[in-house]
Amino acid sequence: MRIILFGPPGAGKGTQAKVLSEKVCTPHISTGDLLRENVKGETPLGRQAKDFMDKGLLVPDALVANMLEERFIRADVKEGFILDGYPRNIAQAKTLDDMLSKLAMDIDFVVYLDTADAIIIQRLSGRLVCSSCGALYHITNMPPKVDGICDTCSAGLYQRSDDKEETVKKRLEVYKKEVTPLINYYQDQKKLYRLAGDEKPEIVLKKIIKIADTHNDSLKV
Ligand code: AMP
Repeated sequence: MRIILFGPPGAGKGTQAKVLSEKVCTPHISTGDLLRENVKGETPLGRQAKDFMDKGLLVPDALVANMLEERFIRADVKEGFILDGYPRNIAQAKTLDDMLSKLAMDIDFVVYLDTADAIIIQRLSGRLVCSSCGALYHITNMPPKVDGICDTCSAGLYQRSDDKEETVKKRLEVYKKEVTPLINYYQDQKKLYRLAGDEKPEIVLKKIIKIADTHNDSLKV
């Protein structure tokens, strides 16, 4: 099953994708995570992407497309994937369609997690990420058992530099400029499901699984 999770920053795409990916053993492909790995590893791509990311801007389409193409070559995506953070605009949506058609693959459905600005800002300003396994926490909504330490792997937690309020506002502005054409694109393809991203993560997860069940029973848990 090939799924796109799409929505504003802080809609819960990463949280949902991680849980779904574990439940169904399907790789979670987050372009944000892949870019952050490149920044951390100081690769040529990471060096080119860093400045855009720090400013809350999109990394140029060609750079992200190359990175994604390399990811799609890996054998683990043959049975499916959960794509999070891509596409971010129409050009990327078309690139993705081309990339997948060359691999004889297609997207099954797209979940749009519609979320109010106030919720986004509350979620992102309190978000913490594990520096080792990438698990997500929130200072008040989902705190770790021990302050600053990951429940799963005991590594330290940190706040993403682009989760600062000013950068969040910029990311939201960038997102809003591109969202309507993308919604229309997937609506025209009859692939779009709109869910309320401000509901509790367990409820959103159940709804995504229900949608998946109508497409294929491989996501039944
Ligand atoms: P995310 O983790 O999805 O919130 O992404 C963090 C940052 O990575 C974004 O603010 C962008 O700078 C960059 N990024 C992630 N995905 C893309 C993409 N599909 N196209 C361009 N830039 C991206």
